[in-house]
Amino acid sequence: MKIECIHCKGLVTVPEEVIRSSKKLFICHLCHTKQQIKTEQTMKKAGKLCVYRDKDLKNPIETHELFVRRYVVGRTSQEKKQDIPILEGDDHLGRQHFILDISQNVKGLIECTIRDYNSKNGTKIVRGKQERELRPTDKIVLEKNDKIIAGVTTFEVQLIELEQKDWQKDNRGECTDRTVIT
Ligand SMILES: [Zn+2]
Repeated sequence: MKIECIHCKGLVTVPEEVIRSSKKLFICHLCHTKQQIKTEQTMKKAGKLCVYRDKDLKNPIETHELFVRRYVVGRTSQEKKQDIPILEGDDHLGRQHFILDISQNVKGLIECTIRDYNSKNGTKIVRGKQERELRPTDKIVLEKNDKIIAGVTTFEVQLIELEQKDWQKDNRGECTDRTVIT
């Protein structure tokens, strides 16, 4: 597996045994620094989550790097755990408000599914001019530029995209199954 060195940012091939070992130590062959592999370094990068509280969604109050995994998103709290804790300042945003499930589909594309986590105030998806309140059973595959509204906070998931030509090659003209918002 290729790991980005935390010192010289070079790409270093690290054997699987090292990654699976408890100490996870390796020496970068470029800058010769001994270092321990962090969990994030072995996870696949998926994109980022931008969090907004301004009307025109220009200045995110925070951004979080996303990897291929599952995240519980909510207002930061000591009692209830969030994978992505969001800054205080929105009392309508639950401590565990919604779940993002980021995976790689059979075509190798990274996608993100959202569902509400039994939140008190609900989760809304805005796609263009359409809006949809998530029902308890809804699992929606997010599309580019979709906005998530929870409390008075707006979220946008920006996923890493493949080049169009790679997508066509991967996809071979098949239609993707996307959830249609009606
Ligand atoms: Zn290095």
